[in-house]
Amino acid sequence: MAVDADLDVVIVGAGFSGLYLLKRMRDLGMSTRVLEAADDVGGTWYWNRYPGARCDIPTTDYTLSFDPALETEWTWSEKYATQPEILRYAQFIATKYDLYSGIDFVTRAEQATWDEAAKRWHVRTDRGETITCRNYVMATGCLSLPKVPDIEGHDRFSGEVYFTSRWPHEGVDLTGKRVAVIGTGSSAIQSIPLMAAQADKLTVFQRTPNFSIPAYNGAADQERLAQIAADAAVYRAEAKLSRGGVPGEATLLAARALTDDERRARFEEVWAIGGLEMLGVFNDILVSEEANELLCELIREKIRSIVHDPVTAEALCPKDHPFGTKRPCVDTNYYATFNLPHVRLVDLRTDPITTITETGIETGTEADGETFEFDAIVFATGFDAMTGALVGVDITGRDGHTLKEQWAHGPATYLGLTTVGFPNFFTITGPGSPSVLSNMAVSIEQHVDWVTDAIAHLRDVGGAGAGTDGWATIEPTETAQTAWGVHVNDCANITLYPIANSWYMGANVPGKPRMFLPYVGGVGPYRVICDEVVDKGWLGFRIEATHSSQCNDGVIREIMPDVGMVLEMMATLELPLVESMSPEEAREFMSASSAMRPPGPAVGEIVDGTFPAGDGTPLTYRLYRPATDGPHPVVVYFHGGGWVLGDHESDDPFCRDLCVRSNAIIVSADYRHAPEARFPVAVHDGMAALTWVAEHATDLGGIPGQVAVAGWSAGANIAAVTAHLARDAGGPAISGQLLLTPVTDLSTDSASYIENGEGYVLTASLMHWFTDHYIDPADRTSPLASPLLAADLANLPPATIITCQFDPLRDEGTAYAHALAEAGNEVHHISARGHTHTSLTMVDIIISGVSYREQMGAALRSFFDRASTSAAVGA
Ligand code: NAP
Repeated sequence: MAVDADLDVVIVGAGFSGLYLLKRMRDLGMSTRVLEAADDVGGTWYWNRYPGARCDIPTTDYTLSFDPALETEWTWSEKYATQPEILRYAQFIATKYDLYSGIDFVTRAEQATWDEAAKRWHVRTDRGETITCRNYVMATGCLSLPKVPDIEGHDRFSGEVYFTSRWPHEGVDLTGKRVAVIGTGSSAIQSIPLMAAQADKLTVFQRTPNFSIPAYNGAADQERLAQIAADAAVYRAEAKLSRGGVPGEATLLAARALTDDERRARFEEVWAIGGLEMLGVFNDILVSEEANELLCELIREKIRSIVHDPVTAEALCPKDHPFGTKRPCVDTNYYATFNLPHVRLVDLRTDPITTITETGIETGTEADGETFEFDAIVFATGFDAMTGALVGVDITGRDGHTLKEQWAHGPATYLGLTTVGFPNFFTITGPGSPSVLSNMAVSIEQHVDWVTDAIAHLRDVGGAGAGTDGWATIEPTETAQTAWGVHVNDCANITLYPIANSWYMGANVPGKPRMFLPYVGGVGPYRVICDEVVDKGWLGFRIEATHSSQCNDGVIREIMPDVGMVLEMMATLELPLVESMSPEEAREFMSASSAMRPPGPAVGEIVDGTFPAGDGTPLTYRLYRPATDGPHPVVVYFHGGGWVLGDHESDDPFCRDLCVRSNAIIVSADYRHAPEARFPVAVHDGMAALTWVAEHATDLGGIPGQVAVAGWSAGANIAAVTAHLARDAGGPAISGQLLLTPVTDLSTDSASYIENGEGYVLTASLMHWFTDHYIDPADRTSPLASPLLAADLANLPPATIITCQFDPLRDEGTAYAHALAEAGNEVHHISARGHTHTSLTMVDIIISGVSYREQMGAALRSFFDRASTSAAVGA
C-alpha cells in the first residue's frame, strides 16, 4: 500500500461521496487518499446485498450529474435498480475516472487526531499506518454502521445468522429452510417476499409495522428519460433546487380541504404510481396530524384489502406514527406475501421475544409463550444512523476533545458539514444536512462541491505552493453552529417528524440522545444557504492562515422556516406596494388577499352587530362565542391595518383562533379609518367600544366585570390607548390588555426600524404611509397616539405584549413593556424569535406561530382568572 506521510486530503469511505470527492480533489491537484474498509467501492451498495435490495428513488434521478458524459454512457435498466446494478454503477465511475488507484481497500480508519502545532490531522488505520493530512473528510454514509440487535441471546443461535446489512457476497440459499426475519423496516420489507419464495417456512418478527407503498418496478420512467434526453442540464439543475432532490411540482392539494371522494381519488392516483410519490400526495400530511391520519387510514384500507387474514392484516397496519415520519418503505408484493401458507407474522407487541436460543426464538411469557425452531435467522434490525459511523472512529479535535464526547448529547454541526473544535474536518451528508431526507445523489454532489470549494479556499488563502508554509484552517464559530442547530430544530418542529420513534430521531438505538438528525428544510433551500455562507465571506467560520486570519462570526438563518417560506412565496408574486395605492385600492387589495387564506378554526357562534360611537355613529362589531358553555369573559379586540385598512374579515381567522384558545368571547370592534377620519377619532371609537361592551356584557353572553382589551399592530395601539382612557375616566375596569406587535411610539427611529425596515411585509415606508394618513406630525407625540410617551403609565391593567424579532415595531413594543413594568404594572413580554409583524396572525399558514397564539390565549385566560379571584376575594 502506498503511504504518503503528508497529504492534502484523507477521505474515509469509497461510496459515491468518497469517489466523487477523490475526483474533485485530484482535479485540483490535491494529494489525496481514500480509506475504505471494504475490498471494493460502493459503500452502502457494497454491503447491503440482501435479496431484493434496490434503491427507492427512481434511478434516473439517483444518478451523479457532475459529468454530462455520465448521462449518455450509463443507462439504468429499471425504474428502481437492483443493488448489483447500482454497485456496477459505482465501479463504472471508479474505473472511468481512474479512482481505484487512489483508494486503500480493506483499510479502516481507526483514529484521527488534530495536531494543532502542525495544523494537520494524523489518521491511524487498522493496518497500523499513520497518514498525515491537512484536511480530513468522513464520507462514511448515513446508514453504514449496523445496529447491534438489542435482543437477549442474539449471539447464542447456532444455526445460520445473517444481517441484511452484511449479506454474504456469495449469496444465500434458503431453499427448504425454516427462516426467521427480525425487523420490518425497508431492508426486511424488500427482502421478505424473495426469502419467502425460497424458504420452507418464513416467520417474520415484527415489533413496529411500517407503511409500505408498492414500487411497481419496471422499465425506467419514459417521461423522465425523455426530459433528461432533451436537456439533462436543465433537469439536473431543477433537481438541485427542488425540495427532495427530484424535479417535480409540489401539490397544492390539502387532505383536509378535500371531500372524502376527492381525497380518495387523489390517493388512488398516487397509489397507482407507487413509491415515495406518496410523500407528496397532499401538501399537509407532514404538518397536520389530522391530514396525516386521513391518509394513514386510506393506506390501512389497502393493507386490509390485500392481506386475507384479518388478524395479520390488522397487525400489519401501522398506528403508532404518522405516515412519512419514518422512512416509508417501497415494496414488491410485501403485504401479499403474508397470504402464503408458509409465511407467518409474529406480532412482538403482543408476544415479545424473550430470548434467542441455540435453536430458535422464544416469545411471550413463561405461562403463555411459544418456542420457534429455525435453521436461519435474518437480522434486518437497522443501523446506528447518521452519527454511528462518525463517532465510530476515534476522532480527537483541538484541545483533546473527542467527537464522541462532544456529541454525547447529540451531534452539533454547522450545516452538517463542519464542527466546532475540529478544524479542517468535514462530514459529507452529516447530521444537520438534508442527507437521508433527500435524493442522496444530489445531496452528495452538493456537499462534495462545497467541501471542494472550502479546501481550495484554504489552500488559496493559506498561500500553499506560493512559497509560504501554506494552508489555512477553517472551523465554524460557536454562534454559527448553535444557531444552525436551532434552525434545524425549528424546521423539524413545524413538521410531525419529531413525533415518531424513528432512526431520524435516534430512537432506534437504546441510549442514543433523542433529536431530529437530518435537515428537513429541503435540498434547494439548503443549497442556497450553503452558497450564501460562501458568498457572505464564509459566514460563521473562522479561517486562519499564517499571515492572515478572519472570523466572520454570524448566523445564516434566523427567520422561522415557515415564515421564510411565506416571504419567499410573496416575493415571487411580485405584489404591488400598498403604499403605492390609494387607501380605497389598498382596502380592496387587502380584502382580496384575505379571501385566499384558510378560514381559521370553527367557533361556537359568530354574530354581527352594531354599537354606537361617542357621537352616536353606528359602528359594526363581530362577536365570536366559544363552543363551550357560557357565560364567558369578553375581549374587545381591535384589528390591525395601520388605522387605514382592516375590518372584521381581515382579522377573522385570528379572532376565531383567539376565541378557541382563550375560551372567551371576542368582540372584534370596528373603529373609523383614516384618512376619512383622522386621529383621534379611532381612539375615541375604541373607548366607545369598550364602554358599550362593558355595559352590555350580560346581553352579549359575557361575564360582567370580566372584560379585557386586545389588538394587533395599530389595533394594539388603540387597545393600549383605550386602557389609558379607561384608567383616566375611572372605568370601565379592564381585566388585562393583550398587545400584539403594538405601535407605541410614532417617532419611527428605533434600531428595529433600521434593521427590519424592508423585506418583512410591514416596511418602514408602509408604516410612514399609514402614519401620514392617520395623524398630523404635530400630534404624533400625543400619548393618545404614542402611549409610550405618556407621562403617567401607572395603574394600567396587567399587560401581555408580544414583539417579533423581524418587525420594525419590535423596539417600541419592547420599550412599552419595560416602561409599563417600571411604572409598577404587571407585564409579561413575549419575544417571538424568527417572526415578523404579520406572521403570528397567519392562522393555519405559519405553524411556528401556534405556540405564541397558545400563549396569547393563556394570557387572556390568566387575566380573567385573576379578575375572578380578586372579585371573589372582594366579595
Ligand atoms: P430500520 O428501518 O431501522 O428497521 C429495523 C427494523 O428492525 C425495525 O422494524 C425495528 O423495529 C426492528 N428491530 C430493531 N431492533 C429490534 C429488536 N430488538 N427487536 C425487534 N425488532 C427490532 O432498518 P432498515 O430496514 O435496514 O432500513 C434503514 C433505512 O435504510 C431505511 O429507512 C432506508 O432509509 C434505508 N433503506 C433503503 C432501502 C431502499 O429501499 N432503498 C432499503 C433498505 C434500507 P422497531 O421499528 O420497533 O424499532
